[in-house]
Parts: sequence; structure tokens; C-alpha cells
Amino acid sequence: MGCQHLEDIYELFLLGALSEQGTLEVREHLARGCPHCLERIREAAETVYLLSLTSKPARPNPQVKTKLLHGLHKK
Ligand SMILES: [Zn+2]
Repeated sequence: MGCQHLEDIYELFLLGALSEQGTLEVREHLARGCPHCLERIREAAETVYLLSLTSKPARPNPQVKTKLLHGLHKK
């Protein structure tokens, strides 16, 4: 499917840490509905959420996860 190179950057994508081009690439790929990557990005969302819990002891925002996952289900 030619998307292995995207595997490791979903966390960055979700954090908004990718370059503009990288972001576009991921977006376009997800827009094609690749089931593998949709599953992977769900996991990445979990990871990012957990990271946000540990790295920001002040006030983790439980809505972030919901928001991230919600956005993925829009078509
Ligand atoms: Zn894919």
C-alpha cells in the first residue's frame, strides 16, 4: 500500500509537529480511507493522549482524545 513510511509519524501529525508537506501527505492518505492507517492513527491518538497526561500534570484535557478520534470519523 506504500504507506509504511507514514507509520511512525502519526503521533507527530496529531501533535501538529509535522512539516506542512508531511501533514498534507498524511491527510491525503487518510482521506483515501486506508484501513490500516486509520487503525494506526487511532493508536497514535491514544499514545498522544497518554503522553499529554504524563507530560502535562497540570491539567490533562480529556476532550482532546475525543476530539481527535471524532475528527477521524468524519467523511
Ligand atoms: Zn495507509
